[in-house]
Amino acid sequence: LTGNEPVEDHQITVCVRKRPLNKKENAKKEVDVISVPTKDQMIVHEPKNKVDLTKYLENQKFRFDYAFDDSCTNEVVYKYTAKPLVQTIFEGGMATCFAYGQTGSGKTHTMGGDFQGKTQDCKKGIYAMAARDVFAYLKSPKYKPLNLIVSASFFEIYSGKVFDLLADKAKLRVLEDGKQQVQIVGLTEKVVDNVDEVLKLIQHGNAARTSGQTSANSNSSRSHAVFQIVVRSPGMHRVHGKFSLIDLAGNERGADTSSANRQTRMESAEINKSLLALKECIRALGMKGNNHLPFRVSKLTQVLRDSFIGDKSRTCMIAMISPALSSCEHSLNTLRYADRVKEL
Ligand code: ADP
Ligand code: MG
Repeated sequence: LTGNEPVEDHQITVCVRKRPLNKKENAKKEVDVISVPTKDQMIVHEPKNKVDLTKYLENQKFRFDYAFDDSCTNEVVYKYTAKPLVQTIFEGGMATCFAYGQTGSGKTHTMGGDFQGKTQDCKKGIYAMAARDVFAYLKSPKYKPLNLIVSASFFEIYSGKVFDLLADKAKLRVLEDGKQQVQIVGLTEKVVDNVDEVLKLIQHGNAARTSGQTSANSNSSRSHAVFQIVVRSPGMHRVHGKFSLIDLAGNERGADTSSANRQTRMESAEINKSLLALKECIRALGMKGNNHLPFRVSKLTQVLRDSFIGDKSRTCMIAMISPALSSCEHSLNTLRYADRVKEL
């Protein structure tokens, strides 16, 4: 995709993004096994040994709404994924955008959770670009008369528990009332008047997310981060629309169920459960009579419940792919998962 192709209109958009080989992979002379031959296809070229040990390539082809190759910028990815969802929240709907993939595949880079203490890379991410467009819509002649109030929240779901990234990672309770309305009790929701205020919140949340962890013991790869922009009607305080942007836990963590460490096994089971439930919830979006969906199976799907119901809800999944041969199995798992989220 160059960015010049038309943006299609889907209730569910599923796309894939290949990142470039990084320095470390290049230093190890890693081979790139992923190709993006068209704007909607991705192929895995997996080297295999035949019985007689001669080598051959097994090509596995997948098709999605869009396939972004390693030359695509965050801006181009944004244009086809989260950007079309901004209108949804002004039209009174719920929007979600998920970054899915193995650890190191580019989820955080894409969403804008990069934070190295001094850099402000979050500006180039989807969180920030979505916030920028929310304010543009807010000021547009069509939506200005609604006088909507914009606010933002940022939380993390780790091992089935919710932590507020805008309040020192305070642990929060999730309550469901008789009408199945789900509420995160005490979640910080900051009213924001401009993009700069949102950027500050993103940076604050990113810093909280990565504090107290080493790369060897990275909690962020085991947690889902949820950044939400809420627009409310004035006075009544009623939610008019909500945009949830989610940096999911590394999908390889869900498979880690044979670890000797009990805590790790439990975390892995929780991640696995939430990613499977998420797939079912997205698949069912827009279908009638979806009351029996596995919302309650995981905290992730429980807190996003209202985003999976209603005709106006729209969602987008960006599945991230590491190009290296050593990531081949994970890449195939990611592509198969994304493939099942939406049958084209
Ligand atoms: P994840 O959040 O999925 O674990 P990251 O977003 O942290 O992965 O990406 C891992 C590394 O690869 C980071 O250093 C990031 O900056 C880099 N990276 C990811 N995607 C891209 C890309 N499209 N272009 C250049 N570098 C990327
Ligand atoms: Mg990350």
